[in-house]
Amino acid sequence: MACRQEPPAKPALVQRGWVMGTSYVVKLTKLPEGVAAADVRQGIARVLSEVDRRMSTYLEDSEVSRFNRSRSTQWFPVSRELAAVVSAALEISEKTGGAYDITVGPLVNLWGFGPEGRRTEPPPQKEIERVRGWIGYQKLHVRLDPPALKKDLPELFIDLSSIAKGYGVDRVAQFLESLGIEDYLIEVGGEVRVRGERPGGGPWRVAIEKPTPKGGVAEVLPLRDMAIATSGDYRNYFEKDGRRYSHTIDPRTGAPIQHHLASVSVLHEKAMLADGWATALMVLGERDGMDLAERETLPVLFIVKTDEGFQEMKTAVWEQTFTQGDRP
Ligand code: FAD
Repeated sequence: MACRQEPPAKPALVQRGWVMGTSYVVKLTKLPEGVAAADVRQGIARVLSEVDRRMSTYLEDSEVSRFNRSRSTQWFPVSRELAAVVSAALEISEKTGGAYDITVGPLVNLWGFGPEGRRTEPPPQKEIERVRGWIGYQKLHVRLDPPALKKDLPELFIDLSSIAKGYGVDRVAQFLESLGIEDYLIEVGGEVRVRGERPGGGPWRVAIEKPTPKGGVAEVLPLRDMAIATSGDYRNYFEKDGRRYSHTIDPRTGAPIQHHLASVSVLHEKAMLADGWATALMVLGERDGMDLAERETLPVLFIVKTDEGFQEMKTAVWEQTFTQGDRP
């Protein structure tokens, strides 16, 4: 008797869209009684566009762009949300000795990875030196109550591209759970957060991309009640004279990272922190990044370029997470 392959179970709701210069998708395994799909769809879009309006350096009138344009060195009132994200970013800066630093905005733009358009070759060294004087997380201050930001230098400006997508994922999770939705997958530009069961039962299955421009799957992970973010140097870069310049800038040199790490994936309960830590460890590289990730007991997967191809390095907590957990 031919066995019938059960068709894969379908989500109760799938919402796809575009925000923060990237795609997003939200999948719900089931919709609670009395919750209208239209309300869920509108709510997701509203939450994400609110994060965009607060934290985008690509929108002239966003909250962060208004702070960036201000030349005042007095307290600049902001929303609780923006203050919370900046506070989390400054904590990661502290722990990474400034390798992760959201005041790196002027360098990101100078190297052509911001809203001011692309470059095809490195900027002049004296330009880099000039702009480097405006960088430094110690020149940025945050007050949570009443929420406000303060810059020590009029030129200082912040770029939240490394952490605010993850924050947007967390805000969508908060919105879904406020409606009693407990089984979902949320993905914004590669930052993912899951909860509960996937359609048909079992953990959600999340693929980690091979760190090459052609993509492909490096690993499929069974995830429950967790977020995962990946940073890499294989999507957003330019090449000049055989050298790759990616969008991850080392504030200590003023230039894009130059080591062999191709991508870093970090697990965390909060997508915002997974997102920020993935960029931070990408800046630090496979050696210093691994040391810090172990000290911080972070579950991290490093994929390193070697002459023989890609080599995976996993922290102890990453290994434990997937030896105990379900297999996909
Ligand atoms: P990640 O590793 O998560 O972040 C890398 C980014 O972090 C770099 O692009 C740079 O901006 C910044 N960075 C680099 N070095 C450091 C460092 N040492 N410390 C801290 N940060 C660093 N893109 C568009 O093209 N159009 C848009 O309209 C647009 N709108 C956006 C709105 C928001 C709210 C956000 C958060 C981003 C937006 N982006 C937009 C940017 C786009 O989403 C980014 O390319 C993406 O956020 C980079 O994320 P990633 O996962 O590729 O890399």
